[in-house]
Amino acid sequence: MQFRDLKKQYQVLKPRMDEAIRQVLEASNYISGKQVTELENSLAECVGVKHCISCANGTDALTLALMVWGIGEGDAVFVPDFTFFASAETVAYEGATPVFTDILEDTFNMNPDSLERAVQAVQAEGKLIPKVIVTVDLFGLPADYDRIRAIADKYGMYILEDAAQGFGGTYHGKRAGSFGDISTTSFFPAKPLGCYGDGGAVFTDNDEWAEILRSYRIHGKGSDKYDNVRIGMNSRLDTIQAAILQVKLDAFQEYELADVDVIAAKYAEGLRGHVQIPEIPNGLGSGWAQYSILLKDEAERDAVQSYLKENGVPTMIYYPRGMHQQTAFAGCNLYGETFAVTEDICRRILALPLSPYLTEEDQQKVIRLICEKTGANA
Ligand SMILES: *Cc1c(COP(=O)(O)O)cnc(C)c1O
Repeated sequence: MQFRDLKKQYQVLKPRMDEAIRQVLEASNYISGKQVTELENSLAECVGVKHCISCANGTDALTLALMVWGIGEGDAVFVPDFTFFASAETVAYEGATPVFTDILEDTFNMNPDSLERAVQAVQAEGKLIPKVIVTVDLFGLPADYDRIRAIADKYGMYILEDAAQGFGGTYHGKRAGSFGDISTTSFFPAKPLGCYGDGGAVFTDNDEWAEILRSYRIHGKGSDKYDNVRIGMNSRLDTIQAAILQVKLDAFQEYELADVDVIAAKYAEGLRGHVQIPEIPNGLGSGWAQYSILLKDEAERDAVQSYLKENGVPTMIYYPRGMHQQTAFAGCNLYGETFAVTEDICRRILALPLSPYLTEEDQQKVIRLICEKTGANA
C-alpha cells in the first residue's frame, strides 16, 4: 500500500500525460513555454483570483510575497506553531521575526485568540511592527478567515495565505488561494495538486503586486530580460511541469477532488467513535492533503503506527514538533504564548494513507487494523 499513490495516478493519466510531455519535448521550449501562461490562466480561473504567478516551489512563493511587501528587519510576522517549516523559515530568511501562535484542536489551524494576544504582546513590547499574518490551510482545510481577517483589519496587517496544502479547500463558497491579500501554493509531488518535481504559485487580485511578482521571479526584470530594475531571484516553473500540472488540474477538477472527499467520508464512517477524526466546520470544504487522526496519547499513537507498519500500511507523523521546538528557532521570543495544543497534538497525531486512488479494499484494511488496535487498548 502507498501512503499517497502517485504511481496509480500516473497509470490512470498516462495517455494524456505522455502526450502533454511529448509536446514540450517536440517544441523544446523548456523555459517559459506557452504551457506556463496557459496553466497560470487555468489556475487563476480555478481559484477565482485575477493573477496567478507560477514559480519554482512553494517556499519561493512565500518569499516572493514577503519581498513584494518589503518585509524584513523590525517586522513581526505571525505564523501558526503547527505547520511545515517553510511557513516560518521564509519569514526569518527575509530578516523579519516569526511570532508563533497556538492552534485549534478541532481544525489544527491558527487559533485567532492566540493570534490576537501575540499581536498585542508585540505591540506592548514596542520593538517590532506587526505586519503580516501567515495563515496555513493545514492538511487541506482553510483557516478561520472571518476571524483572522477581522484581526488583520483591526491591526492593519496583511494576510499571506500559505495554501501549499490548501489547494481544493473551500470556505463559504470561495476557494483556497483566494483568502490572502497574497496567497501561495506548492506543487511538490505529494501536495493535493502536485507536479513531477518542484513547483509553486502565487495568487493575488492586486495588479501592481502581480507585476512586481512577475519581475522578482525573473531576476527583477524590467521591460525585457536584460533590463533589471530590482534585485530578484531565479524562480520559474519549468514548461514541462506546467504541462504536467495542466493534465493533473483537469483530473483534479473532473473527479479527483470529489473522489478524495468520498474516501475521507468513508474514513470518518469507519473510525468515528474509535479515534478522534477530523471534523470539517459548516460551510468549509477540505482539499484533503492529509487525513490525520488523533489517538488517546503518544503510547497509543506509536502502538497504532507500529501495528499498521507490521501489516504493510504506511503512515506519517505531521508534525512531530512545533515551530517553537525547532532547533533553528531555539531561543526565539514567544511573547508569553504557550503552545499546549500544538505540543499535545504532536504526540497524538497520525496521518493515514490517502489519495483519490486509494482502493476500497486497502482503506477497509486500514480502518480494520486501527479499530483492532485501539479496541485492544481500550
Ligand atoms: C510543502 C509546504 C511548503 C513548501 O512548499 P515547497 O514547494 O516544498 O517549497 C510551505 N508551506 C507548507 C504548509 C507546506 O506544506
